[in-house]
Amino acid sequence: MTDPTIFALASGGARAGVAVVRLSGGGAADALSTLCPGASLPAPRVAALRDVIDPATGDLLDRALVLRFEGPASFTGEDVAEFHLHGGPAVVEGVLSALGRIGGLRPAEAGEFTRRAFLNGKMDLTQAEAVADLVDAETAEQRRQALDQAAGSLGKLYEDWRQRLIGAIAHVEATIDFADEDLPEEIDRAAQDRLAVLAGEISAHLDDGRRGERLRSGVHLALLGRPNAGKSTLLNLLAGRDAAIVSETAGTTRDVIEVHLDLGGVPVIVADTAGLRDSDDAIEREGVRRAADRADRADLRLLVLEPGDWPDVPADLRALAADGNAMVLLNKVDLGGVEGGSFDGADLEGAVLRPLSAKTGDGVDAFLADLTARVRGLALAGAGAAPAPTRARHRHALEEARTSLEAALAGWSDRGAELTAEDLRLAARAIGRITGRVDVEDLLDVIFSDFCIGK
Ligand code: GDP
Repeated sequence: MTDPTIFALASGGARAGVAVVRLSGGGAADALSTLCPGASLPAPRVAALRDVIDPATGDLLDRALVLRFEGPASFTGEDVAEFHLHGGPAVVEGVLSALGRIGGLRPAEAGEFTRRAFLNGKMDLTQAEAVADLVDAETAEQRRQALDQAAGSLGKLYEDWRQRLIGAIAHVEATIDFADEDLPEEIDRAAQDRLAVLAGEISAHLDDGRRGERLRSGVHLALLGRPNAGKSTLLNLLAGRDAAIVSETAGTTRDVIEVHLDLGGVPVIVADTAGLRDSDDAIEREGVRRAADRADRADLRLLVLEPGDWPDVPADLRALAADGNAMVLLNKVDLGGVEGGSFDGADLEGAVLRPLSAKTGDGVDAFLADLTARVRGLALAGAGAAPAPTRARHRHALEEARTSLEAALAGWSDRGAELTAEDLRLAARAIGRITGRVDVEDLLDVIFSDFCIGK
């Protein structure tokens, strides 16, 4: 039995100029004919203007462009039809309910179109994930990464690694089958060398500072400092709108407020946290605890100091700047202090010090330029660099592959060819799971549940 034909609104739910309803499966062309009676079926890949009629009532639902693709030359690899409707709720609802009354058709589940594309061999799993990433992309660099991955950049890399492992397995198995004929030593050496190179490539790929994942999900910044240092003012300046409450009463930002920004094409999530200080107030203490937690998890900390904190920066604030993963903002320079030479940055060694005034805007452009460069460094590799893993799923499988590969290399001569081959098979399987070449049935629900309906 063939799969049922599925249909869904593929464009967003809001009122719009155009809404696209997409169908995929053996019944797609018939459904198109049923809703467009009395007119010929358009040729594949040629748009045609048609009256779309509700077959139950004979009501005109819309006058719309329709289009069809014949499998396998379609997104899903199946027959596909599309209605490009006027994007009003009554039009869309009328067409969806008319389709729902046709036998053999049912509404699509989240990600089902892309899932079928994967199952029909139109794309591998990394490409399917890239479709979801492209739909979610909010910045230019996210779009670039998703498009590269959709074109197969990551999948090709992993498939190349898997093929090299399969070649090595063949070699090791040959030594099992032909043990008596003593394969030349150099061939065995060369096979080991090639695998050591591969292990190095996997390590370098993993050792990218999670750039690809950061670009996908956002670089996390935490604004930290004493109450009233100017964190909220700075956040509002960054966000260009009143996102946090700015007030002259200390301790107003008790929870963590997040603002999403696009800095140089990289998505950034800035968290404004409660001012760090001792407090008797239980709610404020909780806010301080959350701020410390944010500081721990942030990719980059923005420590905001005001003249009262200089030059003897308190130890708890100094600790936040200690590991070089921070920018120190000397705020309120309009009040004087920095030029007077009272600030000595020596006790904040390794930190980038940036004098500015969140109030007058002095120094803010230079700070933003620094920050943008820093954020791009955290999320982007250099030009022409190999693609990066974009999901924890990739990373876990690659770590598993590397572990098995290293076990194979470590025990190469003393553990026997059978065990070596088995380790190499485990490594190849781990990588195959990333692209969906091997046993991924159990993974599919997890991966495609990320999608929205109609994709
Ligand atoms: P937060 O508690 O760290 O979030 O501090 P706020 O952003 O609420 O700012 C506390 C006070 O400092 C407010 O009255 C701000 O207007 C003021 N402030 C913030 N930045 C500056 C600055 O650069 N210069 C001056 N003079 N005042 C500032």
